[in-house]
Amino acid sequence: MAKKVVIIGGGIAGLSAGIYARLNGFETEIIEMHSVTGGQCTAWDRKGYRFDYCLHWLVGTRNGPFNQIWKDTDVLNDTVKIIDHEVHTKLITDDGREFIIYTDLARWEEYLCGFAPEDKKQIIRMCNDMRKSAFLKPYSDAPGLRKIFPTIASMLRMMPVLLLFIKYGGKNCNEYFESLKFKNESVKYFLNSLFGSRNFSALAFIMMFAWFNQKNAGYLEGGSLALAKRMTRRFLDLGGKLTTRARVSKIIVENNEAKGVILSDGKDLRSDYVISAADGHSTIYDMLEGKYVSKKISNAYQNWELFTPIVQVSFGIDKLIRSDVPVESFIGKDQFIGRTRTVHGYSLMNYSFDSTMAPDGKSVIVMRFESSWDNWKDIDPDAYKNEKMLIEQDARALLEKRYPGIADNIEVCDIATPLTDVNYTGVWKGSYEGFLPSSNNLMANLNLFIPGLKKFYMAGQWLFPGGGLPPAGQSGKWAIQYICKEERTLFKTD
Ligand SMILES: Cc1cc2nc3c(=O)[nH]c(=O)nc-3n(C[C@H](O)[C@H](O)[C@H](O)COP(=O)(O)OP(=O)(O)OC[C@H]3O[C@@H](n4cnc5c(N)ncnc54)[C@H](O)[C@@H]3O)c2cc1C
Repeated sequence: MAKKVVIIGGGIAGLSAGIYARLNGFETEIIEMHSVTGGQCTAWDRKGYRFDYCLHWLVGTRNGPFNQIWKDTDVLNDTVKIIDHEVHTKLITDDGREFIIYTDLARWEEYLCGFAPEDKKQIIRMCNDMRKSAFLKPYSDAPGLRKIFPTIASMLRMMPVLLLFIKYGGKNCNEYFESLKFKNESVKYFLNSLFGSRNFSALAFIMMFAWFNQKNAGYLEGGSLALAKRMTRRFLDLGGKLTTRARVSKIIVENNEAKGVILSDGKDLRSDYVISAADGHSTIYDMLEGKYVSKKISNAYQNWELFTPIVQVSFGIDKLIRSDVPVESFIGKDQFIGRTRTVHGYSLMNYSFDSTMAPDGKSVIVMRFESSWDNWKDIDPDAYKNEKMLIEQDARALLEKRYPGIADNIEVCDIATPLTDVNYTGVWKGSYEGFLPSSNNLMANLNLFIPGLKKFYMAGQWLFPGGGLPPAGQSGKWAIQYICKEERTLFKTD
């Protein structure tokens, strides 16, 4: 008899766990509270337009262990077109000054040296740090299951990155930029306004550019929903069972061993193993009733900073507006959109690079800005309705400012708030990527297992500061590797 694995949550982590569980012969059921899978990796359709919520870039589009996961789970296959943007973001100030971030390092270095010739030495040093971080190779297997000699060999190969870890592991971007001692005020201003004005890990910033430079962090045509649908199809084709519109309220624990789950309608579902790929906070504090909180877990949920939630205003436009830049970021600090002061500005993403997002001759442009959870957590229904109206007014005006005359072509305006995210996915405080990677947590991942609780694993963005799709996919795989080890069977990927 195959052992049964119940997986809570059908986001990318849950789908990955489900696929690997089926590949290894476990009877597998995913319980998802929403009507569709994908979690935050999603999109929604309005009047022929598709409004994408998640995918900007996917680490592992070309090679490495993440690439293998994306192939195993059908995120990538021969029919999926990978788009590598030349420009990552264009920053624009209130007075119209521009600063471009290229994805190719040689190109960016050349641009920066032209922009601030007096900082040539510092620019080359920064770009070289980014190049060195390309030596970082994520591990394929879960901690504790890696073979000793290949691990030592790969650590030796990663020496240049280890030096970066020693040098910058405890620094945030602000400290890193200061240590480089840029002289040019504009370079300082632009870099700081994007990454330096919060406790964002210097290493996370440096490593991001290595992925881009290797063309290993592209966008997939079709976006987030198509990606999630391919994974879901793969899971179902492998014989997995998916139950949607079912919310897990409790994990059944007997003698410190997970035995299944109880749904919010009272039904219980017994299993040999439980994997929670749902929101980390609600798993630990609600579904497990706070009974298995180690010091490490408690420290993380109490002290680590979260990503500030976002508001997304999506426009369906009855006109083709092409852009050679996917994202423009407007970094004025005194802008209000609704009642949110956009401390880190707002961005406009023009999806003209993906023809599947809008009908022929039409366009999708999405505005995103951060809005603290405090603005939303206790808002009453009338105030919420009113706030959405104000946001729409302000967002339309800003779009008109960027594209004069566009007002008449706006066919659809759709607003998703942090509350929308929380309602649909249960994500804690609307923190769409979990813990912010900072100078004090980048190397402090949480474990997939919980001390004192057997037959239970966690997966998903909350285990890895910085979150994102790759750790979600990877942790789903690792959870099954651990279960295979417990079952003394060889982990298989085909
Ligand atoms: C605007 C935006 C842009 C992003 N851009 C990128 C990007 O470019 N690249 C990148 O890598 N990442 C990006 N991300 C982050 C990425 O979307 C997430 O980190 C990732 O999708 C998290 O996956 P997950 O499976 O861990 O969690 P989730 O997506 O949160 O999935 C959890 C699932 O569990 C379900 N669930 C929760 N509680 C229960 C319960 N009690 N019972 C049953 N089901 C439950 C939820 O409905 C959900 O489906 C972005 C996110 C956003 C919002």
